[in-house]
Amino acid sequence: MNSPFTNAMTQLDDAAQIMDLDAQIHERLRHPEKMHTVAIPVMMDDGNERIFTGYRSQYSSALGLYKGGIRFANTVDEDEVKALSFWMAIKTATTGLPLGGGKGGIIVNPRELSEGELERVSRGWVRALFDVIGPDKDVPAPDVATNPLVMKWMTDEYSTIAGTPTPGAFTGKEVADGGIVARGTSTSRGGFFLLEEIRKKAGKKPGDMRVAVQGFGNAGSYFAKLAYDAGYIIVGLSDSRSSFMSMSGCALDPYKAEEVKKQYGSFSMDNFSDACEDHVRIGSSTDVLEVECDVLVPAAIENQITVENAANVKASLIIELANGPTTPDADHILTERDVVILPDVLANAGGVIVSYYEWYQNTHDEEWSESATNEKLRKQISAAYKEIDAVSVKYDTTLRNGAFIHALERIAKAG
Ligand code: NAD
Repeated sequence: MNSPFTNAMTQLDDAAQIMDLDAQIHERLRHPEKMHTVAIPVMMDDGNERIFTGYRSQYSSALGLYKGGIRFANTVDEDEVKALSFWMAIKTATTGLPLGGGKGGIIVNPRELSEGELERVSRGWVRALFDVIGPDKDVPAPDVATNPLVMKWMTDEYSTIAGTPTPGAFTGKEVADGGIVARGTSTSRGGFFLLEEIRKKAGKKPGDMRVAVQGFGNAGSYFAKLAYDAGYIIVGLSDSRSSFMSMSGCALDPYKAEEVKKQYGSFSMDNFSDACEDHVRIGSSTDVLEVECDVLVPAAIENQITVENAANVKASLIIELANGPTTPDADHILTERDVVILPDVLANAGGVIVSYYEWYQNTHDEEWSESATNEKLRKQISAAYKEIDAVSVKYDTTLRNGAFIHALERIAKAG
């Protein structure tokens, strides 16, 4: 399978060809402006020092300071961080934010570390990269396996080195640490607003639509709960090890699934008591992608919908909350089958949009209410969707190409 960066460059080339992008700008966008690789020495609980590898890719600053999350995983590598930072640059541009794109990561399995070790790893990443990040240069946020607590440690380390409290150095913090009330749910809420818009346009009721979600972390679990609360029928849920799938269309309760996961670490039939339990099948984390449903929401990692399973996807609408979940080859198969894909650079942009609001509040000493923030998000993501849709109609192409072309036009204009 192609690497995430190869896939990202295929998407760039496709859009560049359709819009006839200036060759110089096209070539520039095939490379990150800066790629930082750092060694992070960390004292482990047993008294031995271990060196972790950390990254920060600063892909494009054409439209503003670098912005993008930090991922903690064993699978993190330079290629993945580069791809994710490129997608951030497209995402901020296509949604009209005055920001560029960046992304970071550390090669680490957080499950193997004590909390103290994880804190020292997080602080070490900031010490190693202090000179190149900051509220007017590059503002990181949470991504896979990082959360408000990690952001708190990182903001504290940054502030200590800077010698002054600097809440605007990171976003995705707890409200008590200068965070914005709505950030935790903003990625899923942005995607959910788009689902609601599409449903209303189609004249359907939430109860007419079956939804399956792959990934049960920040993005996936909140999306499942928002959809469930609004009356959509949840027919599939998964984490990295397994999935629950309703075989009769009976609605699964994500709150009950969450209780099982919290108590037992993963989805398990033995402990799942739900109105649907007699109709539920347990399967692998990718089986959920092929379940009978109307809306599929990949919300885990890259390269999940591939040539191997694209023909078996039953959904007519895919909302990509994860970054890069669909390979370009699978994208072609799905497009030929008239499956509509809301691309990652639009569908999960709620996270960076509200991160921008958080950074703005921190640097302008303002505080907005949760409802005001959500309403601003709804308007901004909905406006971006309309603009992207119009571009895709103009060029008679997919929403992904439309989103890329829209972003590339803005980046090209900025020079
Ligand atoms: P998370 O760590 O909170 O959750 C990740 C989920 O994916 C977990 O349920 C995990 O069990 C599952 N998972 C991990 N590996 C898997 C695998 N191989 N197969 C199936 N499931 C697997 O992370 P998150 O913040 O929810 O991020 C999920 C996706 O959403 C990522 O692609 C991330 O880049 C994207 N995203 C997140 C945000 C955000 O604000 N958190 C914003 C934009 C995009």
